[in-house]
Parts: sequence; structure tokens; C-alpha cells
Amino acid sequence: MHGSCVLVLAFLPIVTGQSADRTIDERALNEIPSAASLRAWHDLFGSEPHVAGTPGDLRNIDRLAEAFESMGLQTERHEFLAWMGRPVDAAVEIVSPIVLNLPVMEEPLAEDPDTAHEDLSIGWNAYSASGDVTAPVVYANYGTHEDFQTLRERDVEVKDRIVIARYGGNFRGFKALFAEAAGAVGLIIYTDPDDSGYRKGIPYPEGGYANATSIQRGSIATLDWPGDPLTPLVAADDDAPRADPEDLDLPRIPVQPVGWGAAAEILSRMTGPAVPAGWQGGLPFAYRLTGGPDLRVRLAVRQEHSLRRSANVIAVLPGSTHPEQKIVIGCHHDAWGFGAADPLAGTIVLYECARSFATLARQGHVPKRSIVFAAWGAEEHGMIGSVEWCEAHRDDLLANAVAYVNLDMAAMGPNFSASSAPVLKRLIASVARSVPQARGSANQTVYDAWAGDRGADGDHDGHDVMETFGDLGGGSDHIGFYCHLGIPSCGLSAHGSKGVSYHSNYDTLAWYRKVVGEDYAPALMLTRITNLITARLADAPLLPLDLGRYAPDLRVHLKTLRTRADTLGVDADLAALQRAVDEFEAIAQAVQQRLDQAIAGGRVGAEALQRINRMLVSAERCWLYEPGLPGRPWFRNLYAATDPNSGYAAWMLPGLRHFIEQRDPAGLAEAQRLCVASLGSLSRLMETMDAQLGPP
Ligand SMILES: [Zn+2]
Repeated sequence: MHGSCVLVLAFLPIVTGQSADRTIDERALNEIPSAASLRAWHDLFGSEPHVAGTPGDLRNIDRLAEAFESMGLQTERHEFLAWMGRPVDAAVEIVSPIVLNLPVMEEPLAEDPDTAHEDLSIGWNAYSASGDVTAPVVYANYGTHEDFQTLRERDVEVKDRIVIARYGGNFRGFKALFAEAAGAVGLIIYTDPDDSGYRKGIPYPEGGYANATSIQRGSIATLDWPGDPLTPLVAADDDAPRADPEDLDLPRIPVQPVGWGAAAEILSRMTGPAVPAGWQGGLPFAYRLTGGPDLRVRLAVRQEHSLRRSANVIAVLPGSTHPEQKIVIGCHHDAWGFGAADPLAGTIVLYECARSFATLARQGHVPKRSIVFAAWGAEEHGMIGSVEWCEAHRDDLLANAVAYVNLDMAAMGPNFSASSAPVLKRLIASVARSVPQARGSANQTVYDAWAGDRGADGDHDGHDVMETFGDLGGGSDHIGFYCHLGIPSCGLSAHGSKGVSYHSNYDTLAWYRKVVGEDYAPALMLTRITNLITARLADAPLLPLDLGRYAPDLRVHLKTLRTRADTLGVDADLAALQRAVDEFEAIAQAVQQRLDQAIAGGRVGAEALQRINRMLVSAERCWLYEPGLPGRPWFRNLYAATDPNSGYAAWMLPGLRHFIEQRDPAGLAEAQRLCVASLGSLSRLMETMDAQLGPP
């Protein structure tokens, strides 16, 4: 097959990133995706609510599997049995000074018939405790660590109160954790108009922002490991050893999300002291810290927790010459309702990418390495499907996974951005030069728009784009790959639409088409970017992983750590790691230069190239530390982890960060020693790669 492909290629023009050593013609690849096809995937996967573990989820899994099969890809359902919840009932009511029952579900809209679907659920926070409490209320702003500290400093009694806090500022699970720790008997979380409602723009259905009854659902588990709560470190098979659910550190108080309409009924009746600066939200009255003597609220939540079955849907295109090496492209498929934006704005990109490669494969053009297309289940309950798959395929992935590309909610507007491991940044930036900008001007590339957004100097030399990447680490499906297995990962996305349907019953196809657009231009752009990233990773003779990028990125992280240490008044001597970065950079630059010259001069034999590629595959694993991070053994990547106090943000060099936060110089010194050792391993790896090239 390989020989015939080369013959075909001889008649094709050479384009950027193209060479006779490759089987995939990038231009042909990117002529396959279409807006009409993306729209059709959206119609198919967004046709009914599909919360993980429900009958709608299982029907969608069938659709997802049949779609991969129809492309001719090897398709597998990877089932798992995980501890998940289901909402039974909830009530939020004011019981004094008046009696008023407040809505816990979105109002159906005549303009969007999907919002009346009988399988849509009430608002709920998965893993909430069940309970029925009546108590005075306390307003806690965003419910962050600092917010609860402010309440303590002001002697505001939280014990035996129901806390009301707004979404934003941290992962919702931490609001519950801190409220419970402060002695609250319940928590109501609401969407404030300042954050996603009318203070941002016109609400749905006239515009796209949260209306009075929009409710953000979402998990509130804050365990020290993601995935199935009962099976950390092992796959959640039917016969897996399971923890006792009673022993899990899940919330013990009832927690309920509501819209700003319901919240306003409570907040406007509060008569206590005024709130501190920054705590006033967007509702048209002065916010108060406490409800005063008369206001009492009832909060009742009933949830059922049990082992529930769901599945990942995995399709494989085996590589032609190195099938064991694999590039994994993924997005979850489960949602809180229809999920048109979250996750399907990414899932449709995943499927169009799969269709692109499958189409070329049928014409005989198969890339050298395997591509795994993964639609993950139960992400919304805590990245369950992807983490269980990583745990089930741990040894193979550690040995052979080249990279992971995450597409959660990818196509939400025309403005491209990415979070990435250092080694993938240059590849993403170079691919952006070859893809037209969605809704852009003539000949404008994604790169042009991306650099322009940052006020670039005009010559677009790439340096400012390289500075725009976000740090990867917070909660989505890359976490199993990156933070547990040390596989270079990135998250691709595009924003810039005017609206928020996040985790609400308004996250429908009608919402997406009204707010993100009917043209599917952002999704088409993301598909082409993903196609090219995948093609270059799967087909380039030399893997396009830029090890040298660790040096500038580490300098940024060291600076951040020093600033944090200064803020906390911690004496942090990071000179040893600083020296190691300098030494690594000198080696990396020299080796990369010799490697590039040798490859360009055709002086690297096939076997040497294979050895070098295998070393490149293993490079990121130099950051893995088997015992894991302090207090979080599941997190094994010393380079990046989830921020343990926020959930959405990343901690870079998390071991160092942990001991700075703990004000522990001895721990910090040991954590630094481990990072220096990782960089030393990387330096030795590059020298071994260099040795494959023979004498200069
Ligand atoms: Zn998502």
C-alpha cells in the first residue's frame, strides 16, 4: 500500500508540511471536511438529551459507534461501570417571611421546542448528598477559599446556615467543600447576571445569555483522583476491586443549582450587613451577607447514587508502518441535556476528522502511525470514561502513545486558542499557518488572526503566538493522558460568540445555531487544524515534538513560582532548577540543530530514525514520578497538574508549588531535586538521540 501511495503522490504538488516521505496529502485531507457534514453530525448526536448512564446516553452510544463503523474504521465500545448519580427531586423555597416555591428547572421555550423534551431533568449537582434542611441564609460570593475566609474575618455565622453562592471563580465542587467545612447545612449555587446573564448581553431565546431560569448543572466531586470514584488507578470493569461508597469523601450536605430568577427572590429579601467590595453581583439591589432574623429557606435534594453503565466509543485507523505508535484524538459525548455546545461542538469536529482520514484511507492513503478517535463517556461526572480507558490501557499508552488532542466544546466561535504541553506548541502554531481563518478576510490564516488578536508587531514571526498558549492541567479528558501517564497533550478551542448555554437545558441545536452560527465555519476551521496536527504527528518521518520548548516555558513557571513564594513570604531557592534549565537548553539546541541538518541532508537511516522517534515518544515520561504528587498519588506528572484548590486551573511544577503553599523549605528542596532529575533524564535522552546521528 505504501508504494502505491508514493506513486500517487508523485503527481501531486508539494504543499507546506508535505514531502515525498509522507502518505497523507494535506491539501487533499482538508478538502474532505464540510460544513454540511458537521451539521449532520450535530443533528445526529444532538437529537435527544444524553446524560451519562441514562437510556438516551446508551442510544447515543449506538449512534456514535454506527457512525465510526460506517466510515470503515475498527470500532469498539469500551464499557465501564462507574459510581454515578441521578436526580430524583429537588425543592428550594422561602418559608418565611412569605412562602414561595422557587423553580429548579428551566422554563420550556416556544421558540425552541427541544427545551420541552420530556427527558430533560431538573437542575442538579451530581454527587450532592440527599437532605431536607430549613435554615437562615448566608451569601458567600463565589464561595472560594478566600470568600469563606472573609466571612470568618467578619464573624459571619455560617454554621447551620444555608449558603448561597454564585457560579464562577472556582470549580463548583470547592464551593460545596468549603461550605461544608464551614458548617453550612446546605448550599444553593446560582448563575449571576454579572457573570453569564443580562449584564453580559441579551438572554436566550432573544439573545444567547442565561435567562432567569437558566441553570448550570455539574459534578461537585472533589476527590484526589478523577475517573470513577470507586476505582482509582484501575479500570472500572465489572469485576474491578471497588471502594465502599460510604468511605468516599463526597459532599455530605445537599447542594442545588438555580437560575438568577430564583436567587433574586432570596437575595432581595436579605436584610443583613452590606457585602464587601467585589461581592455585589448584577441583580438590581444591594447584596447582603446575611438574611436577617425573618428570612428562612428550605432546601431539599434527593439523588440516587449507584453503579451505572456507560461506554467510550473508540475507532482506530491502524498505521501502515508503525501501527503500535498512536495519536489519540478525543472529545467526550455525554452531556447534561442535548449538549449542542458541551460537548458536541467538539464531538462533531472529532467525527469530521475521523471521516477525513477514513476517506483518504479508502483511497489507499494510510498514515504511518495509528490514529485513535475517542468519544469519551461520562466526562461530566469527573472525566470517567477517558480516565478509565487510560487506566485500562496504561502499559500500551506509556510505551506507544505519541500525543493526545482534546476537543471538548472546541468550536464555539471563530477565535482560535489552545492550551498545550510545551512539545506540541510549535506544531500547533505551524499548522495554524496552513488553515484559513473562519469568517476571515481573503487569504487570512488562523495564524494571522491569532497573532493579530494579540496586537502582534505585524511580521507574524510566531513568537507572540507561542506566548498565548494556556497551561494545560485543569478538568477535561486530557487529564488521564497528561497528568497520569505523561503523554504530551493539548486542548484546542475557538471562542467569540455572544452567549452561554453551559450545562443548561438551553444547550440545544437551536441555541448553537443562533449564537455560534448556522455556517459551521468555526467547526470547519477546527477540523482542518485537528486534521493537520494529526496528519503531521501520524505521518511525519521525524515526530514533530519540540523538546527544546521546555526551556522557555520552565523559565516562565519558575518566575511564577518565585512571585507566589514572595507573596507568601516563603524563602524559595530555585537556583538548582534554574541551572538545570540553562544546561538543558544548551544541549537541546545543539541536538535539535544537528538533527534538523541530518534529516534535511537525508543522512539519517531508517533504523536510526525509528530509534530517535521512540526516544521522542518516551521524552515526556521523564516527568513521571511513580509515587505521585504529595497527597495526590494519582497525579504523577511533575510538570503539570490540576490546581487542587480550584479544579479548573493548572498548577505548573505542582510539587514545587505544593511545598511553597505549605511553606515547607525541606519539601521544596526535595521537589526541586526531582524536577532537576527529570530535566537531567531529558538531557541524556537528547544526547542519546544525537549519538544515533553518528559523527558530525
Ligand atoms: Zn465538556
